[in-house]
Amino acid sequence: MTTNGTSGDSRPVFFFDIDNCLYSKKCNIHDEMQKLINKFFCKHLDLTPEDAHMLHQKYYKEYGLAIEGLTRHHKIDPLEFNYEVDDALPLERILEPNPKLRELLQALDTSKVKPWLLTNAYVNHAKKVVKLLGIEDLFEGVTFCDYAQLPLVCKPSQDMYAKAEKEAAAPSTESCYFVDDSYLNCKHAAARGWATVHLVEPGVEIPRIPASKYLVSSLEELRVHFPEVFKA
Ligand SMILES: [Mg+2]
Repeated sequence: MTTNGTSGDSRPVFFFDIDNCLYSKKCNIHDEMQKLINKFFCKHLDLTPEDAHMLHQKYYKEYGLAIEGLTRHHKIDPLEFNYEVDDALPLERILEPNPKLRELLQALDTSKVKPWLLTNAYVNHAKKVVKLLGIEDLFEGVTFCDYAQLPLVCKPSQDMYAKAEKEAAAPSTESCYFVDDSYLNCKHAAARGWATVHLVEPGVEIPRIPASKYLVSSLEELRVHFPEVFKA
């Protein structure tokens, strides 16, 4: 997997979010992560668990990422955060190879489309997740939030989407597909002009105002909406 696209390649790009998108929300990795983030806030900002939780939620709402608030207001090193949160997640106990997902990704016609990962996690976490799911060989690259580079660039910022287009060498903004479980990420990608799919799993409330043109309850439905990028 590389982080740079090759030039002279006119294939559209299909961007896949990773967390709660390539595996189900029901895996509860999000909850495990919330616990580790709250622990990090308590330890490094010397807060009570209640205050840690409140500040964490505030940063999440304001910036889309807790780490963004931590670097802006507390001079926390994002790599230290990554080490104590993302890298500390017990992913090996939770994730396992997913043959059905693998089959779906293999059904993409890579002469017509370039599958690419687009995540707000750091590269370690991104690679670990796709490896555990048994699909790491099916993406041509990954655009991640570079915790080593301040200020952080992450979804739903247009800078992040522009970075993804550049790294994946997308021929144009109009030739990008995108699937993500986050309402905001989808809303801003759709505003950019990407063919955007909001993944809302069964049991999760469907938003009153759609985030984007497409809404699916499973990645399998991508075959229905975009037959042009799948093998006949
Ligand atoms: Mg996600």
